[in-house]
Amino acid sequence: MRFSDIIGFEELKQTLVAAVRKGHIPHAQLWLGREGSPHLALSLGYATFLNCESRSETSTDSCGTCASCYKYDRYIHPDLHFVFPTATTKQVTKREDAVSSAFLKEWREFLKNKPYGNLADWAAELGVENKQCIIPVQEGRNIIKSLSLKSFEANYKVMLIWLPELMNASAANSILKILEEPPEKTIFLLVAQQIEQVLPTILSRTQLVSVRPYTDAELVATLTQHYKLPSEKAHQTALLANGNLNQALRLLEAAEQTGQHAFRHWMRLCVKPDITALIKEADRFATLDKESQKGVLQYGLTILRETLTFQYVGEEQTRLMPEAMEFVQQFSKVINERNLVALSSIFNRTYYEIERNANPRMAFLSLSLRIGNLLKMK
Ligand SMILES: [Zn+2]
Repeated sequence: MRFSDIIGFEELKQTLVAAVRKGHIPHAQLWLGREGSPHLALSLGYATFLNCESRSETSTDSCGTCASCYKYDRYIHPDLHFVFPTATTKQVTKREDAVSSAFLKEWREFLKNKPYGNLADWAAELGVENKQCIIPVQEGRNIIKSLSLKSFEANYKVMLIWLPELMNASAANSILKILEEPPEKTIFLLVAQQIEQVLPTILSRTQLVSVRPYTDAELVATLTQHYKLPSEKAHQTALLANGNLNQALRLLEAAEQTGQHAFRHWMRLCVKPDITALIKEADRFATLDKESQKGVLQYGLTILRETLTFQYVGEEQTRLMPEAMEFVQQFSKVINERNLVALSSIFNRTYYEIERNANPRMAFLSLSLRIGNLLKMK
């Protein structure tokens, strides 16, 4: 990952580059960002830059071609260590064996394909969607062990811990000393999403690097340049995603699966209600994967939110493109003070149930029937 692979965030990149130039390289850094912000990507860009063999006084990014950059780009550099949440899998069945080093192949795939992904995306990559992922106690020992070895070839040895908020307390306590006084030229990059869940003892030993969410313009640029989206679609998606690139990608996936058209069709069937057709719809919903199912529900929540904005604040404040706006205007006729809250809550509830592995067919059918009843409420 190079800085140039992340669109925008120029002010932060410049600050980071200037600090490196001055030799100000804190040995324990906490990179913090919301879901869908590029804090993981930027921390990788930073580590790549630090170790780039062609880095000079005037460089503003890693070169992308030296031996170090080559290995960093593939996340195979021997002095780049990763620790992340894990769970037991079909292949790794014992909890004590389920440590980061057992899943490096999956982790590299994840970094390559979903560097903006969240814990659920990572669990999906591991094939453990239904399990709780944690950083277990034995990772404490592993961290100390891998950092006690002399660095092989790098300028800086890097220990990147993704989601330190999921670290077992004993593991966290066991690394406090090394976090405070790491071996020479060793740096910790802790990449977190929820600062309030990071143990205070860890927090107090790190320097904070705060990464803001994407702006709409940065999201549009990312979606058009990196994901080859037509400009109008990129705008529409960016507006709905509220600075969250991961959410934008999820919405695109959901839109592909269902589309706005399908959502309207579904709402019409709910209002009728056409039970036979709704059963068919529920069957279709059940064939989607879990993330897409959640995407459909999120889309529903987005439409409800925009309908509320339209009703109370007016069209100019909504974040929709003309086609979706037209639907919101229509939808607005059947949405009122009495049913709006209930509708949001059943969408949320179904989302929660799907996440907890409810039967998707039943969950979706029951949701459809309740939507039908609520939309008829005057
Ligand atoms: Zn380089």
